[in-house]
Amino acid sequence: MTDRIDLRSDTVTQPTAAMRAAMAAAPVGDDQYGEDPSTNRLQARCAELLGQEAALWLPSGTMANQVALRVLTRPGDEVVASRESHAAWHEAGGAAANAGVQVVEVGRGGVFSVDELLAAIKPAGLPVFPQTTLMEIENTHNRAGGVVLPQPLVRQLCAAARERGLACFLDGARLWNAHVAGGLPLHELAAPFDLVAVAFSKGLGAPGGSLLAGSKDLITAADRQRRRMGGAMRQNGIFAAAALHGLDHHLARLAEDHANARRLAERLAAGSGVQLDLATVQSNIIVFHLPPGLPDAAQVVARARERGVWLNAFAARTLRAVTHLDVSRAQCEQAAAVLTELLAA
Ligand SMILES: *Cc1c(COP(=O)(O)O)cnc(C)c1O
Repeated sequence: MTDRIDLRSDTVTQPTAAMRAAMAAAPVGDDQYGEDPSTNRLQARCAELLGQEAALWLPSGTMANQVALRVLTRPGDEVVASRESHAAWHEAGGAAANAGVQVVEVGRGGVFSVDELLAAIKPAGLPVFPQTTLMEIENTHNRAGGVVLPQPLVRQLCAAARERGLACFLDGARLWNAHVAGGLPLHELAAPFDLVAVAFSKGLGAPGGSLLAGSKDLITAADRQRRRMGGAMRQNGIFAAAALHGLDHHLARLAEDHANARRLAERLAAGSGVQLDLATVQSNIIVFHLPPGLPDAAQVVARARERGVWLNAFAARTLRAVTHLDVSRAQCEQAAAVLTELLAA
C-alpha cells in the first residue's frame, strides 16, 4: 500500500495493528447459540448507541439491507427510496432478487420531499397497483457525494410515511459520518425508523461487518432471515472485536476524514476544470463531474493511477474520491496536486 493514495473507497482501509491485536484477543463462542461474548457486547452497545431495543450483526451492509427488506416488505411490494440509492444501484438487483420488491427512486441529491414521497406512493384499493409498504432513506448518501440528510426533513418524511402505513428503513452504512459531521446523537438520527443499518467496514476501519438495530420483534425476524440467507456466523467475535475497536478509536477521528475531503474538494474546485458542488461535500465523499474538454472518467482514473492516486469512476464523466483512515492530510494534498494538474481547465 506504501505510496498508493487510495481514494476509491473507505472500504479499502487495512485493520491497524491495534485492531488486529483486539481481534486476536477477542473472547469468542458460537454466535448461533447466542454464546459469542464479543458479538453480544457489540450488539448491546450498538442497540444502546442507536436507541433501539435490539441489534443483530451481519456480514455485509448489502445483506443488512436485503434482510431489512425481507423483514419489512412482502414480494410484489414497492419501496420508495432516494434517487441513486445504494439499494437501487449497488446491490446487484438484490431488492428484486432477494426480497421480490421494486424500488422507486425519487428526489435528487440524496434527498426527497414529503410531496415527492406522497406522489410516489401508489393508491391503495385498486388491485392493479403494487402496494407501497416501505420508505428507505440513505444517510449519508453515497452517490450524492456523502451528503448528510437534514434531520427535520427525515422526521417529516418518516411521519408522512407512517401516516400512509409505510414502514421506515434507514440505510446508515455511513451514519457514523452523519453523526460526526452534523453533531446529532446517533439515537436521534435513528429514532424515526423501524430498522437501522450501520456498517463497520467503512470509516470505522473494520475488515467487515454491519448491523441492524430495531425492536426485539423485528430483530428476531431479521435473525431468521439472516440465517436463511446464509449470513449467520459462528466464532464471530473476531469480527465484532474489530468493530468494537473501531467504535472506541476511529469514530471521533472521522472529523479528520471530513476535513481532508473538504480540503481536497476545495483545491479541486479552485484549481481544476471539474464541476464540483462544494455544498455536497459534507462528510468524507467527493463526487465530481468532468465537463466536455476534459478527458473522460476512465482516462482520468488510468492517468491518476499512474501517478499513484486511485479513484473510482461512477459514470462516464463522474468520479468519486473518498477519504479514510489510511489517507493522511499530506496524501490528500498530494492527490490534489496530481488531480489539479491532470484536470487543469
Ligand atoms: C457500502 C454501503 C452499503 C453496504 O455495503 P457492503 O459493501 O455490502 O458492506 C450499504 N449502503 C450504503 C449507502 C453503502 O455505502
